[in-house]
Amino acid sequence: MNKELRAQLESTTQHFKPSTKITILTGAGMSAESGIPTFRGKGGLWEKYDPEECATAEAMRERPWRVWEMHDELRQVLARHKPNPGHFAIAQLEELFENLVVITQNVDNYHQDAGSTRVLEMHGNAWRVRCTAEDRSWMDKTVPYPKLPPKCQCGADLRPDVVFFNEQLDRDVLNSAFGETVKADVFLVIGTSYVVVPAAYLPLMAKENGAVLININTEPTDIAAFADISILGRAGEILPKLVKMLKGKFGI
Ligand SMILES: [Zn+2]
Repeated sequence: MNKELRAQLESTTQHFKPSTKITILTGAGMSAESGIPTFRGKGGLWEKYDPEECATAEAMRERPWRVWEMHDELRQVLARHKPNPGHFAIAQLEELFENLVVITQNVDNYHQDAGSTRVLEMHGNAWRVRCTAEDRSWMDKTVPYPKLPPKCQCGADLRPDVVFFNEQLDRDVLNSAFGETVKADVFLVIGTSYVVVPAAYLPLMAKENGAVLININTEPTDIAAFADISILGRAGEILPKLVKMLKGKFGI
C-alpha cells in the first residue's frame, strides 16, 4: 500500500467506532468492477438499445417484448458476472457495524449475493418481476426466459421490477434512503461518478446533517469538492484494506 493511501485510510478509520451509524451509497462503478459495462459506457446496453424504446412505462405497454428483449439480455450479462471484493468488503462491514445500511443505484443484486442484508434499492432489482395487473412482485431468476414477455399466472404480462426512465422512484424506498442519510455519522459514496437525481442529493444531505463524507471513486467526481476524504481508486482494492484496518483497530 502506498503512503498516501495508507494515510487516507488511517484518517478514514478515525471516524469509525462500533456504534457509528454508517450509510453507504453505491453506483455503477461498483458493478463495473464486476465486469458489467455501465449502461452509458462503451459496450453498455444503451449502445444497442434505445432507452426510450425499451425502458419506459409506455414501451412496457406498447412493446413489452422489446422491453424484455433488452432486460433479458441485461439479466444474462448479470448472470455471467458476480460480486467483486468491494461487495464482499461491504458485507463484512455490516458484520462490524450494527448500524449500517447500503443504498444502491444498481439493480444487479450483487450486494445481497455478497451477503449484505440491509440494502435499499433505489432503482429496483433486475431479478424481481412484477405483475402488470396485480400489485405483487417476486424474485425470479429464470434466465433466459423461453418466451418473451414472461406472463404471470393470472395471464397478464410481467414487467421487470426496476424503475423505468419516466417513472418515480418508490416512495417508501426513497423515504428510507433519506432517513438513513440524515441519521448517518459516516456517509460513504462508492463508485458513483454519475449520480442521478435524487440520489445526487444524498451526499450533500448527509454532509448538511453532520456526517463525515467519504468518497471512493476511480475517477474524480463533483462529490470530491465537498467530501471530507476522497480516495481515488477501485472499491475492490480499497474496501478490503479498509476492513482489515478497522478489524485491527477493533481488535477483531
Ligand atoms: Zn398477475
